[in-house]
Amino acid sequence: MRIEFDRDVCIGMFQCVAEWEGGFERDSNAGKAVLVDSEEVEEGVFSRDVPEDAELDAKFAARSCPVDAIRVYEDGEQVV
Ligand code: SF4
Repeated sequence: MRIEFDRDVCIGMFQCVAEWEGGFERDSNAGKAVLVDSEEVEEGVFSRDVPEDAELDAKFAARSCPVDAIRVYEDGEQVV
């Protein structure tokens, strides 16, 4: 499973941080979330693999985002 985070879309509500502790962190200065251990795959878009034991949390984080800044992919197909 892979997760993708669009930093430009993020409005810093930090629900994702509450849902997936360790996956997302707050950047309170910027008012944006940070996807921990991710790489920037295109400008402003960050991606990383999701460890098996964090898959539920990652999905909840994606669902909780009010502006759909987080997407989750399984085998290349978007699931959230
Ligand atoms: S829930 Fe969405 S808008 Fe809020 S900090 Fe996370 S990515 Fe940004």
